[in-house]
Amino acid sequence: MPDLPHSVVIVGGGAGGLELAARLGRKFGPSHVVLIDKAESHIWKPSLHEVAAGTLDIHREDLSYFMLARESGFTFIQGEMHALDRNAREVLLLSVAGSTGLEIFPARRVGYDTLVLAIGSRTNFFGTPGAREHAITLDSTEQAERFRQRLLNLMVRRIPAGQHGDDAGGAEPPGLDIAIVGAGATGVELAAELLEARAGLAYYGLHGHGCEMRITLIEGADRILSALPPKLSFAAQSLLESRGVEVLTGLRIAGVSADHLSDQDGRRYPTDLCVWAAGIEAPAMLGELGLETNRVNQLVVDAQLRTADPRIYAFGDCAQAPWIGQNSNLPARAQVAHQQAAFLYDAMSARIRGAPAPSRGFAFRDYGSLVSIGHNRGVGNLMGVLSGKSWFVEGLVARLMYMSLHLTHHLAVLGFGRTAALALGRLLLKRGTPRVKLH
Ligand SMILES: Cc1cc2nc3c(=O)[nH]c(=O)nc-3n(C[C@H](O)[C@H](O)[C@H](O)COP(=O)(O)OP(=O)(O)OC[C@H]3O[C@@H](n4cnc5c(N)ncnc54)[C@H](O)[C@@H]3O)c2cc1C
Repeated sequence: MPDLPHSVVIVGGGAGGLELAARLGRKFGPSHVVLIDKAESHIWKPSLHEVAAGTLDIHREDLSYFMLARESGFTFIQGEMHALDRNAREVLLLSVAGSTGLEIFPARRVGYDTLVLAIGSRTNFFGTPGAREHAITLDSTEQAERFRQRLLNLMVRRIPAGQHGDDAGGAEPPGLDIAIVGAGATGVELAAELLEARAGLAYYGLHGHGCEMRITLIEGADRILSALPPKLSFAAQSLLESRGVEVLTGLRIAGVSADHLSDQDGRRYPTDLCVWAAGIEAPAMLGELGLETNRVNQLVVDAQLRTADPRIYAFGDCAQAPWIGQNSNLPARAQVAHQQAAFLYDAMSARIRGAPAPSRGFAFRDYGSLVSIGHNRGVGNLMGVLSGKSWFVEGLVARLMYMSLHLTHHLAVLGFGRTAALALGRLLLKRGTPRVKLH
């Protein structure tokens, strides 16, 4: 009997998993490379704050996994992994229902020779009462869209009758209070993007008329972007404050209700819309695989990104991997997932060929961090690769560099020609579409 091809099954087609599947697919083809994702289309997760603000149209940005599979030469299976049968070497998937509720794929089992888990992370509410029920998160396109539609509805509802489009005066409608809990990159970028959305909504007559959108960014640490150098935090804070965002630091939210937040001293903060962006955890299902996990459910992997099961690897946000040379673990960032995908490409290629995997460990190259503060501004620190020194960058240069990260992801997934065509197409489309998605 001929040998069956060695199959590498990657679960999670996000910032890291899709890049790995596309690169392996182009080299080895669909009989060797299988990608499983619970969604039918892909969006680069760091764009979700733009979807939430309505400045990016999800229907123009997302890419169908079936199309990507066809073009990059991997097999795509849609389904949500809910368990693993390690003895049979099978991933167990839930059935998939379409938008009408009709089952489109039954529950299935997918066999693997090597399994790579890249299922990302989700919001961590840290057990805060009411947060899960009343706050919106930015974990998926559905949640980002939910926020956008709620924001739009609340804005429209506040326009007094007869004033849709003209400033007729009269009784002042109540303002709209938006609270963002957590001022890491996600919270800061969302606050800045909402400022862009506010300007776009005003342009179309959906903001103003006495209804002010008030944005409050709340952080428990003593500065925003606390994982980044202080200079960056202060630059970002002063940019946000100069554009009207209220920034509250050293404030811990102890409860979330439908119309207000409360802190640990019982003070109340009125809110019409609350976004929770205060931390992450990996899906709880990872704790049930019989493999070591940490307190936020991340699979513990070694420097080669292997779990204790030699057939199972994990990377990206769902894994706790050592940061070689830093005596700590790698941060949950798109840059880490991107570089780990390139590292695993070599390891998976060796396994498919039946050769020994490279013995070197994954060494993260920190090129610095960039945070977008709107469409024309950003702040960041860039690390000199040779000198190890860091440079502070801001303004349009930082924003353009930030955009290049997204481009790098598209290049890894689509290749040069298609990325260029897509970028040009989107640029042209922008001229004929509203600045903010209005429907
Ligand atoms: C609004 C926002 C802004 C951000 N900005 C930045 C930034 O500026 N810079 C930066 O470095 N990082 C940023 N991040 C973090 C960055 O998005 C993540 O670190 C990165 O996406 C992690 O990549 P990943 O491949 O591990 O997971 P993800 O990109 O989250 O992909 C996980 C994939 O797994 C799929 N999946 C999940 N569970 C299952 C399951 N059970 N079965 C099948 N499929 C499953 C999901 O559908 C998804 O496609 C931001 C995050 C957010 C939310």
